[in-house]
This record gives sequence, C-alpha cells and structure tokens, in this order.
Amino acid sequence: MKFDPGSYNIKDERMKPFIDPGEIWEFINDTRNPGKQEVRDIIAKSLNKERLSLRDTAVLINADDPELVQEIKQGARDLKDKIYGNRIVLFAPLYIGNKCTNNCKYCGFRASNTEAIRKTLTDEEIVRETEALEDNGQKRLILVYGEHPEYSADYIAHTVKQVYKVKKGNGEIRRVNINAAPLDIEGFKTVWEAGIGTYQIFQETYHPEAYKWYHLGGKKTDYNWRLTSLDRAQEAGVDDVGIGALFGLFDWRFEVLALVRHTNHFEACYNVGPHTISFPRIKDAANLNIDPQYEVSDEEFSRLVAILRLAVPYTGLILTARENSELRKEVMQFGVSQIDGGTRIELGSYTQTQNEEQNLNKEQFHIGDSRSLGEVIDELLEDGYLPSFCTACYRLGRTGEHFMEFSVPGFIKRYCTPNAILTLAEYLVDYARPHVAEKGWNVIEENIQQLDDSKRTEQLRNRLQRIRQGERDLYF
Ligand code: SAM
Ligand code: SF4
Repeated sequence: MKFDPGSYNIKDERMKPFIDPGEIWEFINDTRNPGKQEVRDIIAKSLNKERLSLRDTAVLINADDPELVQEIKQGARDLKDKIYGNRIVLFAPLYIGNKCTNNCKYCGFRASNTEAIRKTLTDEEIVRETEALEDNGQKRLILVYGEHPEYSADYIAHTVKQVYKVKKGNGEIRRVNINAAPLDIEGFKTVWEAGIGTYQIFQETYHPEAYKWYHLGGKKTDYNWRLTSLDRAQEAGVDDVGIGALFGLFDWRFEVLALVRHTNHFEACYNVGPHTISFPRIKDAANLNIDPQYEVSDEEFSRLVAILRLAVPYTGLILTARENSELRKEVMQFGVSQIDGGTRIELGSYTQTQNEEQNLNKEQFHIGDSRSLGEVIDELLEDGYLPSFCTACYRLGRTGEHFMEFSVPGFIKRYCTPNAILTLAEYLVDYARPHVAEKGWNVIEENIQQLDDSKRTEQLRNRLQRIRQGERDLYF
C-alpha cells in the first residue's frame, strides 16, 4: 500500500493543522545521515534539561549507526536514572465493554468482526471485577471501552463512579483513567466531574492518508475529530490527557515526530504537555488487516522509546503488557515510567480462572505479558526498581507532577520516592507473598538510605510504622 506522502485536507480552513505531514517529512528528510558530534550534542542537550526541537528529534530518529543508537539508549537511561530515579508506577486495564460501531482494520472489536463475542459489564460485574483487582493489590485502573452509542459520557461517568465506590478490605481504587472514544466538550465535562484521572486517546496514526486506509467505518473515520479531541478535553477543563500512536500502522519515524509535534501543540496552547505518551505496538487480533511494511522490530521499538524519553523528558511514558516480559524488561530501562501488571483484557476475566490460550474473538488483541501483579512486582524489585501505586499529586491537586519531578530540585526525594515507598509498603503488608515482601522491605530500606534528608526520613519511618499498624493511604 502506498500512501500519498503529504496531503492534508481540512474542511474548515479556520482550523490550522498542527500536524502537517509535509513539515514532518521535511524534518526527516533534511536530517538524514547526521554526524556523530551532532547526535552527541543533542543527547547532551537533553541531559542538560533543555527541551529538544522537532529538528533535534529528527536527527535522533535518523541516527542509524549502531554506535549512535547505543548512545541514544544510554542517554535515555542516564536521563531516567539521574532525573527520575528508579520508580515504576503500576496500573491495570479494566475492559468495560467491547461493542463498537467503528471498523478499524487492526482491532478485534471492529464492527465487521461478526464472530466477536460482545459484552458490556453490568454494574454488578464492574463491582466484582473491581473487587478482584483490589484483592490483587491494584490501586490504579484504566477503564477501556469500544465506541458505541451505549458508551455515552454519562455511561462512562457512571462506570467510573461504580469503580470508585468499591472498597474491599484495605483495597480501594484511587485513580481511574479512561481510554475511550473522543467526546464533545459537554461529554468531557461530564466524565471529568466523575473524578477521572487521565483521558487517553491515541491518534493511532498521525498520517492522514494512512489513517483513512485503516479506518473504514463509523465516527472514527474522521481524522480531525480525533486529532482535536484532547483540545476539546482541555476546553472542558480536562487538563490531564494522554496521547499515543499505534506503532506498526505507518512509518515509526513519522509517528515519533508527530507525537512530539502534538506535545508541542499542547504546551503552546495550554501551557501543559500531555500527562502521558503511549506507544502500543500492533499485536495479533481477529482478522488483523494491516500493511506489513510498517512492522516495527524490537530493536526499532526500544530505540523509539529512548528517543521519546530524550525528546519529551517530563512526560510519563507507558509500556503495556502487549509486549512480552523480556522485551518489557529491556525497554523499561529507556525511560518508561508506567507499566500495567496482572493484566487481563477479556471482558469479565479478573473474576474467572485464567485460560492458558487467549480467544481473539473475546479480546481486542493478543497480549504478551500475562504474569500476575505479584510476579511483575517480584521482577521489578529484583531488577532494582521501586514499584509505586502513588496517586498523591493528583489527589492533592499538584498537577503537572512530571514537570515538577523534572524541574523542581529535590521534588523526587521530598515527594515521589517517599510516596512510592508508602504505597509499596501497603502492598507488601496487604498482598505480597512472603518472599516478595522480604525483597520489598529490603528495597524500601535501600531507597530510604539514599534520601539524605533526615527530617523527611524520620517522617517516612514514622508513617511506615503506622502502615504496619494498619493505617492506610498516607502520603506527602
Ligand atoms: N475504542 C476506543 C478507541 O479506539 O479509542 C478505545 C480504545 S481501544 C479499546 C485502545 C487502543 O488499543 C486503541 O486506541 C489502539 O491503539 C489499541 N489497539 C487496537 N487494536 C490493537 C492491536 N491489534 N494491537 C495492539 N493495540 C491495539
Ligand atoms: Fe472500536 Fe477502538 Fe477497536 Fe477501533 S480500536 S474497532 S474504535 S474498539
């Protein structure tokens, strides 16, 4: 399939496009075969906390020399280690309904897949699934929906409220994010009032022609409605938004630059970048119909994550269980800040015993990492990470926390690390198996030793004691 390299048709001339394919190609074509020094200067610029330009990012994208690729990855690793430390935030997806009126060629839920087993969780099922997630130790969820008239903004808000009200033992969900279809301004207001965290919408591909080729029917055929969706969210007061591209639909280099361009748009218009960037990669799905020439190899995938880290240093990067555990372990080093654990994507499956084989007519796509949350945490601890379920900034109204982590000296040691430790401690007391708990307390101790703020350390030790005595939800 050949896509027109740069056409962009907008019906409303007043709407100045912030994604201009011609401009993106120009950056990519003008920076081919960059010199070593140029690439090194750009990596150094990022490590110096200077924001990279689109041109700088294009240079990194074009640095194909294996030595330079290694340096880019090392740069991303250094940026993460020096600036953010070793925290990894954990969450789980909860699929609410897979009815869908769209026809996306890559998705098992698309309307033309008549074999798909359609289901929308009842309120009672939502409660039971949430209880099961709480029993596993989850504190942060992302609710996922197909696009269907049944899944209106009111309905989404209703399901969010159902989840928040479930308290089982010491369990509770403290942050509910959303991945659903674009809404109008009123709709975004409605879901915001229900207390959502981030509203995620992935553009899938930023290339208008490719977009048209993959989206055959339903509301999602409208590229601009989707591209401007998170602007409507901002207008509605939803200042916590997540963007993403589905890698494997079109040239990964184009998509990376477009994600950075989208980020710049938010910064310019709303003074705050997206809260998170996601980079799902195409996985097998029922009757998958994609163009294989754009397949992204593991090597390209880890490279593009490292480039995103360097290009947008203060935004959360989400790596999901679409990828297998080995690749997740590898890619996580390059600046990922959030992963899901204990993931199941079949509707209603958190309350069922797990089948060995996935049934692609019940699920949107094939997942690569189906380990339990406990297993994921075990490995994170083993690898020196600090697993976190922290929701403090969001609940204290400290928005833009990634930016603060990045730019406010000492913010991480004062807030992020102690809060990660407190939420990990809760997990260890309430849900961990003994060998994981033992590892976890050792990791906590190691991290406390590095805090070098005696007052904060004392406060933290005091709160840890209170957690051991049964108090919950303590944070700074
Ligand atoms: N229906 C909504 C939408 O399309 O925005 C909600 C989300 S959909 C259930 C979540 C995301 O999964 C999509 O935005 C897409 O990026 C991703 N996805 C769809 N099919 C996929 C596949 N075969 N492999 C990996 N990710 C896929
Ligand atoms: Fe429906 Fe979303 Fe799947 Fe497209 S990606 S078919 S909109 S669920």
